[in-house]
Formats: sequence, structure tokens, C-alpha cells
Amino acid sequence: MTRRYAFANQKGGVGKTTTVVNIAAAIASWGHRVLVIDMDPQCNATTSLGVNSRELTNSIYDVLLNERALVEVVHPTQWNGLDLAPSTPNLAAATVELNGQPPRDRVERLATALFAVEDYAYILIDSPPSLGVLTVNALVAVQGAIVPVQCEYLALEGLTQLAHTISLVQRGLNRDLSIRGVVMTMFDRRTTLSHQVVEEVRRYFPDQVFETVIPRSVRLSEAPSYGEPGVLYAPRSTGAQAYLALAREVLLADGEAVTWQPDVAGLVRSDSS
Ligand code: ATP
Ligand code: MG
Repeated sequence: MTRRYAFANQKGGVGKTTTVVNIAAAIASWGHRVLVIDMDPQCNATTSLGVNSRELTNSIYDVLLNERALVEVVHPTQWNGLDLAPSTPNLAAATVELNGQPPRDRVERLATALFAVEDYAYILIDSPPSLGVLTVNALVAVQGAIVPVQCEYLALEGLTQLAHTISLVQRGLNRDLSIRGVVMTMFDRRTTLSHQVVEEVRRYFPDQVFETVIPRSVRLSEAPSYGEPGVLYAPRSTGAQAYLALAREVLLADGEAVTWQPDVAGLVRSDSS
């Protein structure tokens, strides 16, 4: 069975993309096949996995609007077992084009494309900072939403709206959908605010906040400019270790047997020289 999760929060810059690419790399380094789908016209997940969207002829845009099969746009990354359905900037236009389609059809495009895809243990979908048609496509196509929340003032703002959108999708379009978990990101243990925000979010989402909190880490923020997820770029950094722990939490909750440390080094493709 393929587990499909969408990473969503309409607030910008909360760590959605960082969380997607790092959990994806971590899960792949435990030996599972992972597909990342970039549903954001900013293409940050694509770039963070070392793929230049300007050099692509096919992308998730063609799956949503040109009836291209998903397998045709899947791009290998330089890491074993980690594939990418990339985004290109023209995905921005997809929002307008999709909104011209019949209401149900326009939000089921991605789900339909994923229907026959069985080669992966995990499909992880990055979404843009909005609750528009691209994010709804992601929510319709998965069993779980994972919500990254930044440890900062007004962290809870907008989460009611997000929870409402998720429950609308759950009722009308995808009965399998639930909130799979909330990830606290960019935690700074020296500030009272960070601690307060974590407590507040735990009160608001009892039992849904992941145990692992992601610290603010320079290594995580510089990794994308090298086209690598932090867990592969600087596996020993505190940020990478936190994402490995988070991925472990996800795998264990999904009933997977997990060794203590994954084989991060073994992930590099032998044919990628
Ligand atoms: P958008 O809504 O624009 O898609 P996002 O929610 O995907 O943003 P990211 O792009 O993952 O957020 O992160 C926003 C910025 O914060 C990026 O520059 C990223 O490198 C940085 N960042 C994310 N997580 C951390 C962290 N734990 N420590 C330090 N910097 C981080
Ligand atoms: Mg992003």
C-alpha cells in the first residue's frame, strides 16, 4: 500500500518544503521508495532536490492540464529510491486554467493521476501557501495532511481555516483524509516564545502534534542552495537529526520496522557521477 501525505499550511514560509524534502530523503534512506510531488509554482521542492525546473519539458502541470500520465513526468533525483514529479513556474497559470473546469473535476486531477501509481511506499506532496485549487488537489489525493507550523507569534492564525478546508474535503471529496500530524518548525529553545507556541499548538491540537520538534538550523536553510535536502547535505546537524527523528516517528506510527540510524550515505546513486 502506498502512503500518501500532503504538506499544507496556507501561511508562507513555515517550513512545508523543507519538511517534505527532508522527510522524503530520510524515509528513502531507510530503504523505502519515495516520490515527492511538487505542487507549488515556486518550484522550491524541485530545486531543493537538485532539479532545475527551467530545463524541464514536462512537469506536474502537464499531468494536471495536458492529460499526461504521472510516470511520464517523474524525474529521478541523484539519490536512490527518491523520485520527483517536478513543478515548473507555469503551474501558476494552472490555477486559473483549473478554475475554468467543472468544480469536481478540477480538484480531482491529481488524485486521478495517482490512482494507478503503486511503485512507491510513500508519496509526499508539497503545496503552495494558499488554500486554492492546487492545495485542494493535494488534499483530495492523500490519506493524511501534515501541517508544519512555525514557532512564532500568531502561529495558530489561519489554522482554523486550514482545519475547516480539510474537513470540507473530507466530507465532500475524500473520506480517507485526516490530519496526520502537526510539525513544529524553526524552534529556538532559547526563546520563551518558541516554548509558548509549542504549548499553545499542543493545546489546540491535542494528540496531533509530533513529538519531534524541528529546531532552527543554519544547515537546513543553506541546503537548498546546494540542491540537497538537509539530511543529506549535513546529516549530523541538529536540523538533520531532527528530521531523521521525525521521519522515524512517521514510519513507526505507520507500522514500519525502523532501525535506529538509516543509511544516509548509501542513498547516493552509484551511477550519478
Ligand atoms: P512557502 O510557503 O513559500 O512554500 P514553506 O512553507 O515551504 O514556504 P520553506 O521554504 O520550507 O517554507 O522555509 C522557509 C524558509 O525558512 C526557507 O528559506 C528555509 O530554508 C528556511 N527554513 C525552513 N526550516 C528551517 C529551519 N528549521 N531552520 C532554519 N531555516 C529554516
Ligand atoms: Mg514551499
